[in-house]
Amino acid sequence: MVYLDRILKACESVGIATRTIDVPGEDAVSQERELGAAILRLNEDPEVAGIIVQLPLPAGVPLRTVVDAIDPMKDIDGLHPLNAGLLRLGYEGFVPATAHAAMEMLKRSGIAVEGADAVVIGRSPVVGMPVAFMLTMANATVTVCHSKTRDLADKTRTADIVVVAAGRPGLVAGGMLKPGAVVIDVGINLVDGHVVGDVDFASARDVAGAITPVPGGIGPLTNALLLAHLIRAAQRQTGGASGGSR
Ligand code: NAD
Repeated sequence: MVYLDRILKACESVGIATRTIDVPGEDAVSQERELGAAILRLNEDPEVAGIIVQLPLPAGVPLRTVVDAIDPMKDIDGLHPLNAGLLRLGYEGFVPATAHAAMEMLKRSGIAVEGADAVVIGRSPVVGMPVAFMLTMANATVTVCHSKTRDLADKTRTADIVVVAAGRPGLVAGGMLKPGAVVIDVGINLVDGHVVGDVDFASARDVAGAITPVPGGIGPLTNALLLAHLIRAAQRQTGGASGGSR
């Protein structure tokens, strides 16, 4: 909800009208049906330029419900198979805003990606895999780690760039990092009422050459890029300036 509120506020601050739809339903089956129907209605609405679906979905409602329904032209968070496929092939399309933010953070910070050894922790279709694809396209050598990875520290300790997107607070600590490594913490976790990332910031900041905090790191840039994707979607739909999300 933190994430959604910030997006709504960001839209309001630049004069973009928003509509929030709470999908009704008493169980996963009816929620799935209602969610699919709500997305189809938004697809048809000419006043709607972009659609995002707040993740994670309720237990039992598959991501496929969104993936199958959303119009790729309004898919500003890059979930539709067309956009996912375009990313995989290296063509322009809408990419997930968080993955875009991770790459943009590296670019704007002047961090060399080409030739770098990068480790991405997390392989979800929404964050981990898109980041891994984008780093690969930018000529990094990428290792993707996940919940079945045997020795995470063994992988992170030699990495120049570590992107953490697992949703596990404290998963990466300073002792797991190569001195001077660049650390991008995508995680958002609520611990004792506080928002924290996946990286133990206190120990990692002393070892890392650069590190994004949580909150205040990738999140604000993600929101800004989501708005940029929305504006491009509106331009495309009205025949204005063309171009992809990158
Ligand atoms: P997800 O649950 O779909 O995927 C988590 C991934 O982490 C999986 O691939 C899993 O294999 C891996 N993982 C879990 N435990 C692990 C472990 N112990 N070691 C190694 N890998 C492990 O989650 P998601 O949607 O990809 O989101 C990941 C995190 O990013 C969450 O905290 C989420 O809230 C956050 N998020 C942030 C933004 C943002 O804008 N900053 C946007 C989306 C998601």
